[in-house]
Amino acid sequence: MPQYDYLVVGCGLFGIAFAQKQFERGKRVVVIEKRGHIGGNCFTENIGGINVHRYGPHIFHTSNETAWKYVNRFTRFNHFVNRPKVRYKDKLYSFPINLMTLYQLYGVKTPLEARTKLKAVVIPKENPDNLEDWVLSQVGPDIYEIFIKGYTEKQWQKEPKDLPVSLIKRLPIRLTFDDNYYNDKYQGIPIGGYTSMLRKMLEGIEVKLNADYFADKGYWDSIANTVVYTGKIDEYFDYKLGALEYRGLRFEDELLKGNYQGNAVINYTERKIPFTRIIEHKHFQFEDRPQTVVTKEFPKQYHKEDIPYYPVDTACNKKLYEKYRKEAERKKSLLLGGRLATHRYLDMDDVVLSALELAEES
Ligand code: UDP
Repeated sequence: MPQYDYLVVGCGLFGIAFAQKQFERGKRVVVIEKRGHIGGNCFTENIGGINVHRYGPHIFHTSNETAWKYVNRFTRFNHFVNRPKVRYKDKLYSFPINLMTLYQLYGVKTPLEARTKLKAVVIPKENPDNLEDWVLSQVGPDIYEIFIKGYTEKQWQKEPKDLPVSLIKRLPIRLTFDDNYYNDKYQGIPIGGYTSMLRKMLEGIEVKLNADYFADKGYWDSIANTVVYTGKIDEYFDYKLGALEYRGLRFEDELLKGNYQGNAVINYTERKIPFTRIIEHKHFQFEDRPQTVVTKEFPKQYHKEDIPYYPVDTACNKKLYEKYRKEAERKKSLLLGGRLATHRYLDMDDVVLSALELAEES
């Protein structure tokens, strides 16, 4: 009889939540991870008391009571609310687009004035089916140029006309002064950092770091009844049907003195600036410190050996993913979950919920 009920491949948020749930139910679980740390891309590294979001900023937000209750079992959350600013040329703007942004652009002071102005500038389109047409039909070309076009081209390295509307519908457009990036009921950052929350979730569970599943797949498969694979689905099948697309990222850190930008996130939306945003990590925490860690985030082309970040949601990728999914379905002792194995752009609450659901079903 195999030693474990579940081998979880990948120690990111999905793998950890799944393992936690099964461990709690008395199952024998082991988690393996090819990197040298837990947490996947949610990993935070403590640098002089500042929890640095090593793989890009992660802000937990949800309206789902189950997800919120679940994560609160392992950490307390602070009252951080994401209110990024946009820098375009020499100006700063309130963001996401709200009444203050429209005041800064057009001088409108009330929701009615704003609505009238937007009506005059939009380029109407019935059923816009791509990102560019949708934005133009909602807010017109000035706002599209300042806030969306350059950032989106940098981020995705595709024409916004070739991108789905779903990508941009994540961002609210409001005719109030509410500049909260999210519409969700709950939001915050784990006090002490994500790594500390994730470590708590893993309490009692066996974790093997620097363990490459593919280096000895036969062995790993033999030690458990079921494999829960959270890595790239195309890699699982050795890319035999082709490679799925991802976007990569590169980060440049600086350790500085004082307060660099006065906010956790400032987006740089100009096309000619190579990074998309600057993160100043200490502003996620509400504890001032003499030092500060500042990270520039550069989108980059993804290569197979790189860390994958954003799955690219195109019709072509969807089709290829479906083929892989069908192959995976035929394997009785294999379960898939998380952003990479499902090739979907998932928020953290969706990751947690889907892991809990899969644990419940299996
Ligand atoms: N976006 C943009 N300008 C911005 C921020 C976002 O055009 O200043 C667009 C861009 O296409 C991006 C999408 O909105 O990919 C979703 O942004 P979000 O902040 O949700 O992405 P995240 O980085 O959090 O995954």
